[in-house]
Amino acid sequence: MPQHGEILHVTGRHYRTRRPVELSVEDGRIADVRALEKPAESNALPWIAPGFIDIQSNGYGGQEFSSPELTVEKVVEIAAQQAAFGVTQFCPTVTTAGLDTLVHSVRTIAEACQRHPQVARTAPAIHLEGPFIASEDGPRGAHPLEHCRPPDWEEFERIQQAADGRIRILTMSPEFANAPEFIRRAVGSGVVVAIGHTAADSGQIRAAVDAGASLSTHLGNGAHRALRRHPNYLWDQLGDDRLRASLIVDGHHLPPEVVQTMVRAKTPERCILISDLSGLAGLPPGRYDTQLCALEILPDGRLVIAGQDQLLAGASRPIGYGVVGAMRFAGVDLATAVHMASHHPARLLGMPTVDLLPGDAADAVLFDLPLGADGAPTALVVRATLQGGELVKVA
Ligand SMILES: [Zn+2]
Repeated sequence: MPQHGEILHVTGRHYRTRRPVELSVEDGRIADVRALEKPAESNALPWIAPGFIDIQSNGYGGQEFSSPELTVEKVVEIAAQQAAFGVTQFCPTVTTAGLDTLVHSVRTIAEACQRHPQVARTAPAIHLEGPFIASEDGPRGAHPLEHCRPPDWEEFERIQQAADGRIRILTMSPEFANAPEFIRRAVGSGVVVAIGHTAADSGQIRAAVDAGASLSTHLGNGAHRALRRHPNYLWDQLGDDRLRASLIVDGHHLPPEVVQTMVRAKTPERCILISDLSGLAGLPPGRYDTQLCALEILPDGRLVIAGQDQLLAGASRPIGYGVVGAMRFAGVDLATAVHMASHHPARLLGMPTVDLLPGDAADAVLFDLPLGADGAPTALVVRATLQGGELVKVA
């Protein structure tokens, strides 16, 4: 940690103006931004942009957040890992499990935040994905069937209490009769309700949005393999401007044309990139027996249910892939793609955005963007992450 009053200088090409700049950082904030005078050298400089905010991340390196074996130390470790992805803040995501496991998971995350200010800063909110989701194959994704259940307010309150009030996003299916009432209460308590892992019909989707649901979780994934052409819950969510959409743009979860269509239909302003990183992310290819089922990491990095290589069971690529994917597949420019991974999730959570201006939190990512023969970027290589004023060198 830099000492109080110590000034750190960071240089890079501004992601919006493309001009080289030097940021002065003091006490966790950007104190000054100065245009550099020698643009000739600027191509060697990394890009500098607001740090990424990943609202859906299930763990890393063999540890899921949703696990009876989660420890405070593991949470600290996974939070520290985020800087390598250019992520300055993220939502630890706890997925469908029995009540005891959910309570243990969120309590452990809350405890890590209470004991470690750095973790509290990096993980400002918990995302609870499930257990109130569809039990049908397809919409359920890799969530365990035995634990999928209809929404229950008392149960949610118990989990929220164990989380010390830190659950800020709840992904659920609105296909249950009591969903609208449940959503109204959840939204009234300050939780963002997201529609996901759903088999809901058009009326149920509309009722959920009327009740305050405001996000579609990984739109286009966690869905039936075959779907009536129309109407269906994809069109319903795609066409409703009251819903933002989170998208896994990792090159595996959605075909390029679908990304392009969704970004155009929702507009980039309503799109939020997520990694949806699995707890198995970061492990080498192979078969892994998790608590609930056997999963496999294929040589190309796809994470699938063992033996069923069409059924994705999570993601293994960090959010920077999504920034590149949004540029390549949807044709948006760098600044727009960066905002889909920074400003838009910040706004969803009611957090201040970082514009690389004096007074902003010193949360930024420095990266290279190697270009392919077609002139579009092929990768986002994080060089360093500035997290609350602390510079973490990555490559
Ligand atoms: Zn999911």
